[in-house]
Amino acid sequence: MGRKYNVQEKAWLESNANGINHIAQCVICQNKGYDEKKLASAKSEIFIGLMKKHFHPIELDQNMYCSECEGMKG
Ligand SMILES: [Zn+2]
Repeated sequence: MGRKYNVQEKAWLESNANGINHIAQCVICQNKGYDEKKLASAKSEIFIGLMKKHFHPIELDQNMYCSECEGMKG
């Protein structure tokens, strides 16, 4: 309850995790998530824990569409 650093954590994750490519974003719905395979290779367990706390896993196809948007192409 009443965690203080959620907003800062998320902002930090978005700038840092994005930079090292752990956050993937769908080009259609702008949904953000983490790439499970890439995250599994991350070195810091704290970092992994924060990522899982703030983001859901997301899988993008080669067009950067998430699975929900995949059916909407064409
Ligand atoms: Zn999408």
